Amino acid sequence: MKITEAKVIVTCPGRNFVTLKLTTDEGITGVGDATLNGRELAVESYLREHVVPLLIGRDAHRIEDTWQYLFQGAYWRRGPVTMSAIAAVDTALWDIKGKAAGLPVYQLLGGRSRDGVTVYGHANGETVDEVLTETARFVDLGYRAVRLQCGVPGLASTYGVSADKMFYEPAKGSAPEENVWSTEKYLNFVPRLFARAREEFGPELAMLHDVHHRLTPVEAARLGRSLEPYHLFWMEDPVPADLQEGFRLIREHTTTPIAVGEVINSIWDCADLIRGQLIDFIRCTVVHAGGITHLRRIFDLAALHHVRSGSHGATDLSPVCLSAALHLDVSIPNFGIQEYMRHTEATDEVFPHGYHFAEGYLQPSEEPGLGVDIDEAAAARYPYQPAYLPVNRLEDGTMHPW
Ligand SMILES: [Mg+2]
Repeated sequence: MKITEAKVIVTCPGRNFVTLKLTTDEGITGVGDATLNGRELAVESYLREHVVPLLIGRDAHRIEDTWQYLFQGAYWRRGPVTMSAIAAVDTALWDIKGKAAGLPVYQLLGGRSRDGVTVYGHANGETVDEVLTETARFVDLGYRAVRLQCGVPGLASTYGVSADKMFYEPAKGSAPEENVWSTEKYLNFVPRLFARAREEFGPELAMLHDVHHRLTPVEAARLGRSLEPYHLFWMEDPVPADLQEGFRLIREHTTTPIAVGEVINSIWDCADLIRGQLIDFIRCTVVHAGGITHLRRIFDLAALHHVRSGSHGATDLSPVCLSAALHLDVSIPNFGIQEYMRHTEATDEVFPHGYHFAEGYLQPSEEPGLGVDIDEAAAARYPYQPAYLPVNRLEDGTMHPW
């Protein structure tokens, strides 16, 4: 079965998505997500100019060989642009293989290891009361796990907090928005949020929190220790993961579980974190970490070291990526949790899909392949719009991780 056509489709149904659609000489199509938030056109160009010409005429069944061909063949290894482009090809080929076999992709990955994929939703608010109201709404919707983010008194804006509760979208505008940050105000405040939340919701609800790479290791250790009485499911991205060794200091000082990985692109970028058991959850995604083939390799390494999965699933990933993630989530032995932010109606219209939410779980589609597609006519109605993620500065103007 040969690949005969490869299209790169950019669309903006509320936010930008890049999608690769492959067609074979047997008429089977497959889709892969190639979205890199705020840098979308770099991947689009990489695919269109450098990858598509190599795909035409290749055997669509040779997924591993195509992965190695694109990875080793580029000479320049890793990085978010390259790995997102490879991911799109890999994901589309798994979709095609599933359709050719007449099986949902999770069956090709070994079949189900669980009945459903536990997901967490995002409760955010300007005040603690608002966050608690939002948390209750997610509990009413059936969620078993909720991420809590709250405005910090004295700061004009806070990561993860927006007026639109269900469809938070930080990327916008033709230049990055500038936020202001104070680590001290944040560290003094967060334990109060979780004290109230535990009081309100009792010991059972899984509660998560995203630090968004803003602390140093010793500051993260202080935060983790101060949150121990409220036994969080995890503390996410406590420090930037550029220095894997930095997590050891956090680990030595707190039992609050640590999650990291949404900006990590390859197994070599998290191997020390995993082998050193410095984290509890690895949060890489199908789209940014080289597709189903490479992400499964990361999860397999993690399984050997007591590390569970917890894939990023914000709306900067298209329903194509979420579909692919669910096939992995339901099949791997060391699944932890899956982030789930609902896409807008316009996005769901562009990407018709068969996964569904019920009683706190997402279920992958039972259709052959990934069970997701792109409606090209609908996609064409939403042209690309430039959008940047915000930047962040300390109160004295110093640049700080957003
Ligand atoms: Mg995050």
